Amino acid sequence: MRAIVVDSARARPEVREVVEPTAPAGGVVVRVLATGMCRSDWHAWAGHDDIAFPHVPGHELAGEVAAVGPGVERWQVGDRVTVPFICGCGTCGWCRAGEAQVCPHQQQPGFTHWGSFAAYVALHAADTNLVALPAWLDFATAASLGCRFATAYRALVRRARVTPGEWVTVVGAGGVGLSTVMIARALDARVVVVDRNPEALDAARRLGAEAALLADGTDIPVAVADLTGGGSHVAVDAVGSEQTCADAVMSLRRRGRHVQVGLLPPVDGHPRVPMARVIAWELDLLGSHGMAASDYPGMMALIEDGSLQPQRLVERTIGLEAAAALLPEFDTAKVSGMTMVDPTR
Ligand SMILES: [Zn+2]
Ligand SMILES: [Zn+2]
Repeated sequence: MRAIVVDSARARPEVREVVEPTAPAGGVVVRVLATGMCRSDWHAWAGHDDIAFPHVPGHELAGEVAAVGPGVERWQVGDRVTVPFICGCGTCGWCRAGEAQVCPHQQQPGFTHWGSFAAYVALHAADTNLVALPAWLDFATAASLGCRFATAYRALVRRARVTPGEWVTVVGAGGVGLSTVMIARALDARVVVVDRNPEALDAARRLGAEAALLADGTDIPVAVADLTGGGSHVAVDAVGSEQTCADAVMSLRRRGRHVQVGLLPPVDGHPRVPMARVIAWELDLLGSHGMAASDYPGMMALIEDGSLQPQRLVERTIGLEAAAALLPEFDTAKVSGMTMVDPTR
């Protein structure tokens, strides 16, 4: 099959013929018909994850089941499916409770094994992780859900439990941030968005943010308090830095809920968090990590009734060759919106 292969960290990605995967026990092989490119793919290419090379990246996908391994009960060849980027083992207590996003034995296509920048990809524990696509949902829209929208949906719906009319501050208007703006609007929440990039703020406004704050040295918490009558009910740090985390926490009103979505690896030790405010104002600090297949029906209901239109984020569709050329630059490429890859091109 054709695939984008990376031979070592930071090596030039090449499109070439490799051996097709076979369906593992309990798993399937999916023929990839749409797969999104995101910054995590760039991190994998750059060697920031614990990855075995040569490697095939790609983790946001939709397609058709092409082969079914032994022990799979729910799926057949030809089924239209997608999958969250975190695949649980299917057998532990967390997976059985529908919480595969925190499975201790989780797999992630494009990280723990070869991913979806290829004609075919193997997926494990299919009965737990696969999601059937309704007839009205196209492959590209479905692929766009697996990483950024799933993360945003879980953060706002399952973790922060946002209710209509509440103020949500979204710090960071990149992929996850814009998805968070769109989910918040679909939930009838009011959105303040914060970013260093004026163009990103414009995009957030077009997607429904009511107010936009340029992080140019402005005191963000004071500005949010002015806009929202004392602070937002919910804040999401979609960037992942000590500064953005603190801005989000300090932008909350009393009893507010903070959700940390942007990754904060302890490269310089653990980040400082304004815990005095957390205690005095009884703030909730919540982590959010992807989403399990069991949470998809709620997100799909928002799409079916038209309140969430994820396809508005998809800006372009390219083939494998163009995707291979784009990947090393993806960290700095000024691409707004989402890049979708069609491996059949
Ligand atoms: Zn598990
Ligand atoms: Zn992603």
